[in-house]
Amino acid sequence: MTSPVWHPFTQHGLGDPIPLIARGEGARLYDADGNHWIDAISSWWVTTHGHAHPRIMAAIRDQSERLDQLIFAGWTHEPAETLAAELIRITPDPLTRVFFSDSGSTSVEVALKMALGYWYNIGEARSRILVLEHSYHGDTIGTMSVGERGVYNRAWQPLLFDVDTIPFPHEGLEQSTLDALEAACAAKPAAFIVEPLILGAGGMLIYPAWVLAEMRAICARHGVLFIADEVMTGWGRTGTRFACDQAGVIPDIVCLSKGLTGGSLPLAVTLCIEPIFAAHFSTDRAKTFYHSSSYTANPIACAAANANLAIWRDEPVQQRIEALADAQGAHLAMLSHDPRVAKPRRLGTIAAFDIIVPDSGYLSNLAPRLIAFYRDEGVLLRPLGNTVYVMPPYCTASAELNRIWSAIASSLGKIEAT
Ligand SMILES: *Cc1c(COP(=O)(O)O)cnc(C)c1O
Repeated sequence: MTSPVWHPFTQHGLGDPIPLIARGEGARLYDADGNHWIDAISSWWVTTHGHAHPRIMAAIRDQSERLDQLIFAGWTHEPAETLAAELIRITPDPLTRVFFSDSGSTSVEVALKMALGYWYNIGEARSRILVLEHSYHGDTIGTMSVGERGVYNRAWQPLLFDVDTIPFPHEGLEQSTLDALEAACAAKPAAFIVEPLILGAGGMLIYPAWVLAEMRAICARHGVLFIADEVMTGWGRTGTRFACDQAGVIPDIVCLSKGLTGGSLPLAVTLCIEPIFAAHFSTDRAKTFYHSSSYTANPIACAAANANLAIWRDEPVQQRIEALADAQGAHLAMLSHDPRVAKPRRLGTIAAFDIIVPDSGYLSNLAPRLIAFYRDEGVLLRPLGNTVYVMPPYCTASAELNRIWSAIASSLGKIEAT
């Protein structure tokens, strides 16, 4: 009997095998027969300290014996209060408020709604959103609207709202990005949303910290709200806890999810500066921020996030990140002279390069063939078109990293046959 499960981003018509995973530990995923795979992409960028981290699992067990779920409109609980206070403590002072939701996409939806709610409530007609070319902010209608248009969202194009797109700051062309942003800001848009330092789903496209800082400064000069989508970049991926830290950038709104719970349970937050909260603060009910989802600030997920924050406080997370970043750099350097490798690049723990092939569109069969090859080699990798990237959990041992990169090296040897 075939499974009734309809998997995300999966073309079932191609009949690829779908491994059944029974257990995860550290950087490894095991099936029931004891076969294992190295999770080289942190289960789609969420797992930071490794699968089934004992402290996070213990926090989940402990919280599940006290309070499982609570309506969060007008009620509160200790795990959410502790988490919000701690998030405010570890982020820059101007960020004073924490709004909970349950996925990266909803944290972005909340950010956009906060931005428009702010302008609406202070009585200024601003509703346009500026976005960066090649961005990805999620798969809901609103987040697709602010992301790159293409094959992934063609069917829904008629529903997507209009945005103004700023060109990606390619090396040598940074000034044209800044000029375009400056010009677009003059038209008084509501907000600019950006993935800081690296565009993930867009192909691991890296741009310098000074460009991020300049973009932030331009928005500040024009009073345009600056939204940092740190859903992927947050929690150490880029080498610092948050990517904005490297640029000295303080956004007006920040979206966090993925590694917020160490990658164990779905949870997201949208942090904002006080004036945005203040614009909704009133005795007038019409100024209420009308947004909620059923599992907003789920207590068990909040407990998992508190355990993540405790790990960041108590364990040498930063050293692990630096060691992993160095090792990734060394592996990448060894491949970078291969004639099939283009644009080797790294930001913190994220290493990526492009494979030179004659036909490299996402829908060509290169990526699916690579995914199958790596799967057979015991490595979970999922190239984006012809971009191969490695984004492992911080606990990945050097022997495991060797296995990942030797699978990549052997895949290059197969390219001629593709
Ligand atoms: C993954 C991602 C999202 C969406 O998060 P989901 O939890 O998958 O909804 C949004 N923004 C960025 C930058 C992401 O990488």
